[in-house]
Amino acid sequence: MKFIRTKPAPSISDGYKSFRPYVRSDFRKTCAYCLIEELFAAGEENFELDHFWPVSEFPALKEDFYNLYYACHPCNHIKWAKWPDSQLVAKGIGFVDLCRDDFENHFRELPDGRWEGLTESAKYTIDALRLNRSHLMQIRLLLRALCRE
Ligand SMILES: [Zn+2]
Repeated sequence: MKFIRTKPAPSISDGYKSFRPYVRSDFRKTCAYCLIEELFAAGEENFELDHFWPVSEFPALKEDFYNLYYACHPCNHIKWAKWPDSQLVAKGIGFVDLCRDDFENHFRELPDGRWEGLTESAKYTIDALRLNRSHLMQIRLLLRALCRE
């Protein structure tokens, strides 16, 4: 599973927030990090535009369509300006980018709803974004049960 971004980038005239409908559509109304859909995460108003490469470190990417990821409020606020330090970056470790990499190459969902990191970047991402929060694990189990019915 990975996200496919619209190409070429839509043209807008008044700030990155105008990209929201396109970003929402590209991410299929799903958080780019915890992968919970709006429907199961308090709806569209609980979703925000995240700058994947934080503006504090990459100001030139503030208005870049491809730096805007759809994120639920908790993931966006936990992530905020987090970015791997230079030692991790040097080892190629950072947030897993599901616009570039497949989920299955980095994560495995365990029977209890927990995500296990298969790569160093996945372990970093799970830890930094707390992707095994209790609510997420409960929702994963619920969705799995729904799919079985
Ligand atoms: Zn999320």
